[in-house]
Amino acid sequence: MLEEFDAAIIGSGHNSLVCAAHLQQKGWRTIVLEQASEPGGAVKTLELTEPGFRHDWAAMNLSLFAGSAFNREYAEKLGACGLEFVPADKCFASVFPDGKWLGVGTDLAATRERIAAFSEADAETWGELVEEFPGKAEYIFALLGSPMKTHIQGRLLAKALWKKGGAWTTALARLLIASPRTWLSETFESDHVRATLAAWGMHLDFAPDIAGGAIFPYLESMANQSFGMVIGKGGADTLTRALLALVEEGGGTVRCGSAVTRIVTDGPRATGVELGDGTRIAAKRAVVANISPRNLAELTGGGTGDADFDRAMAGYAHAPGTMMMHLALSELPDWKASPKLREFAYVHIAPSLDQMARTYQQAVAGLLPDEPVIVVGQPTAIDPSRAPEGKHVLWVQVRMVPAEIAGDAKGEIGGGDWDQVKEAYAERVMDLIEAHAPGLRKNIIARHIVSPLDLQADNPNLVGGDQICGSHHLTQHFLFRPRRGFASGNTPVKDLHLTGAAVWPGAGTGAGPGYLLARKLAGT
Ligand SMILES: Cc1cc2nc3c(=O)[nH]c(=O)nc-3n(C[C@H](O)[C@H](O)[C@H](O)COP(=O)(O)OP(=O)(O)OC[C@H]3O[C@@H](n4cnc5c(N)ncnc54)[C@H](O)[C@@H]3O)c2cc1C
Repeated sequence: MLEEFDAAIIGSGHNSLVCAAHLQQKGWRTIVLEQASEPGGAVKTLELTEPGFRHDWAAMNLSLFAGSAFNREYAEKLGACGLEFVPADKCFASVFPDGKWLGVGTDLAATRERIAAFSEADAETWGELVEEFPGKAEYIFALLGSPMKTHIQGRLLAKALWKKGGAWTTALARLLIASPRTWLSETFESDHVRATLAAWGMHLDFAPDIAGGAIFPYLESMANQSFGMVIGKGGADTLTRALLALVEEGGGTVRCGSAVTRIVTDGPRATGVELGDGTRIAAKRAVVANISPRNLAELTGGGTGDADFDRAMAGYAHAPGTMMMHLALSELPDWKASPKLREFAYVHIAPSLDQMARTYQQAVAGLLPDEPVIVVGQPTAIDPSRAPEGKHVLWVQVRMVPAEIAGDAKGEIGGGDWDQVKEAYAERVMDLIEAHAPGLRKNIIARHIVSPLDLQADNPNLVGGDQICGSHHLTQHFLFRPRRGFASGNTPVKDLHLTGAAVWPGAGTGAGPGYLLARKLAGT
């Protein structure tokens, strides 16, 4: 007999689970269908190396979720479902070839003192930025948390003009469209300070010279300074498990190993989905697809019938990829610059704006970067429960790498395919880390390397290992995500909606796309 639900949701990323949980609370019956054997998409924790060593497969930093509107509404229920965060008050740092380092944590005096070692003027500026952050944050978070509708964003603009004035509002607008280099060069005089903050742009696809990227270094540095960072207790999967429990407690169903191969339509309406084994599931009110727009044509049998929309989805731009390295360690890295670096959640190895710009350009050109940007995550420094007593895991994110390898910028690594080169490229990354933390290799108990294509094989939304499911450059952000006129997840097919990182407000664990869609569908 045909199973029937109010909504069939394709994919179990946290946006899908948030959407299902909210719809269940509003009386809908939902089913979430996941092709992989585990739920959670980019938010899962696995024993990838040795028993007892819990590695965050992809996302580690859950600050965006902790600060999200969904968490504000559901915090109590999520807590009852087992969601637990661990705060990190030493958030992020950078190490430099001259042996210096700079770290940002919630102790303002300590951050300022570390900045002052590079520039007194920059330490002064930092204090001023932190002081004025709440005033700016009110508007930036309202912008990022609201539907991309002219009347809603127009009201926000009018409020800013009325309360803060034209000069303040245009300065904020300028920050929103500035490149990281423009904002950082205008604001700070020290190259070390500039590079420490610019590294945050590289978590998305904002190399220093790309317009619209300044907001990420700005927000991450100010938010980490003001609120700190959080990671999941025992692993980022605390979030997935809690959301799963919330959906199921509300009567919803989550089914893994269930790849959706077709969206079923009846005339102009989406009415259900079909799985790889031919099973059909009916959806009375909505089909929600948490997929890369590029994969929509395959599920709709060639397209939605709106040629313009279909062309835009087929041409949806993905960013360069990521390689992940998961290490099980007997000891944390012995950072040469300072033993204090062991206390930081992230240590960036991204020494200058020019190095970041070069890395990005090499990856875009299909080259393995000679000196990739490296994010060394030290989750067990914050949450020792993720490894056996006294032992550690290291979460190493290698940004940016190409999906298809045209060559090696350093001219050393041959071979064209990731399965052949990933171990050799991991050695390059190890050399770069060891230059700052000698002896790391001898503390490795086991390691697991995940190429950009391995990321895509696990989750088809991460096309080419693109960890943000689509470039966030200005032409594909705000009202253009994923396409002008469709930023609220609507599609030309009635009752078919898109959600997930490809839809406004985009990537990260902030749950915005899933929650905004659920509220739109439920009408509250
Ligand atoms: C390596 C990496 C590191 C990251 N680090 C961070 C971080 O530290 N902090 C942060 O905030 N963000 C981070 N991000 C980004 C963030 O994790 C993602 O933007 C976010 O989790 C995406 O959630 P989502 O709901 O859009 O879907 P996803 O998590 O992408 O999940 C989509 C799901 O849909 C499934 N699916 C797709 N097609 C089908 C189909 N046809 N049938 C059935 N199932 C299907 C997939 O298998 C997948 O499980 C990182 C991402 C990656 C990849």
